[in-house]
Amino acid sequence: KRIITTETLEEDQKIEGSLRPQYLEDYIGQTKAKETLKIYIEAAKARGEALDHVLFYGPPGLGKTTLAGIIANELGVNMKVTSGPAIEKPGEMAAILNNLQERDVLFVDEIHRLNRQVEEVLYPAMEDYAIDIVIGKGAGARSIRLDLPKFTLVGATTRAGMLTAPLRDRFGVVNRLEFYTTEELRTIVQRSAQMLGVEIDPKGAMEIARRSRGTPRLANRLLKRVRDFAQVKYDGVITEEVAVYALDLLEVDRFGLDYADRTILMTMIEKFGGGPVGLETLAAAIGEDSGTLEDVYEPFLLKNGFLQRTPKGRVATSFAYQHLGFSLSRDS
Ligand code: ADP
Repeated sequence: KRIITTETLEEDQKIEGSLRPQYLEDYIGQTKAKETLKIYIEAAKARGEALDHVLFYGPPGLGKTTLAGIIANELGVNMKVTSGPAIEKPGEMAAILNNLQERDVLFVDEIHRLNRQVEEVLYPAMEDYAIDIVIGKGAGARSIRLDLPKFTLVGATTRAGMLTAPLRDRFGVVNRLEFYTTEELRTIVQRSAQMLGVEIDPKGAMEIARRSRGTPRLANRLLKRVRDFAQVKYDGVITEEVAVYALDLLEVDRFGLDYADRTILMTMIEKFGGGPVGLETLAAAIGEDSGTLEDVYEPFLLKNGFLQRTPKGRVATSFAYQHLGFSLSRDS
């Protein structure tokens, strides 16, 4: 596994829970989502009603699960956590819904992966706080409606486009989470360090933030790795020097590129004159399948201006040449 993967790794699980902000006030960044949520939460509380259903979408590790927990805390209710692939049968979803208390939060991660029949249980549940249960078989079958407590569904997805329209339309509040700025990540790193009881100076925090690809999950993971170096090789304090030393050794460079990212760019430049090179050709040259190249590696490189897509294929940008230490004249 790449150290810069945004999936949750086993090593994250121990610390993620303890580093999660519990209330909106402690949640850094995502100002737009935070402001709207604050108003809706206050209004729901004032009326003593359940909060409208909320959908969060955006890349992994940006704080969707964290926000769901914060919503429950701010409302002063319990949260039940599940995920799209975890629920196989409509009856399982019905049972979860039926066990909720008034105004509770039900968090469904990867909600785009619910199967059709399970998803259909959610329609009346979200709209009318009810589920329809079929009793009996054949001609004698009839459907009865069972009332549910008024609850809040919080859905999270990395692929908003894969949500069906009927499901999407039932969310009253829809928020897209954005990548974090380096400054925001620096604040997160400093807060996490404080909670872990590690001393860190602002420049050390900045260095970790810069290499974290806009993602808090990654910032916390890199912090934890750098902390180990600080303890073993230095006197425990995370300075810029320690951060640079540790992250260089881990091969996460100053823009957050790892060995695999650099190999892709190097291959484009050295074997294909910087491009344009077709996706399949490039994938074969680096020994990856084209789907992984396109879905896992390319988005970060595209978003950060290392690579461009043209009708003729992928092109390494002058920024990529510069970053990898090639002279710019080769890019003409
Ligand atoms: P997602 O559900 O989007 O994959 P998570 O909510 O699990 O992401 O966040 C990953 C980790 O990043 C959490 O453990 C949390 O500690 C940290 N984190 C996320 N957003 C923030 C934030 N705004 N402020 C501080 N820490 C955050």
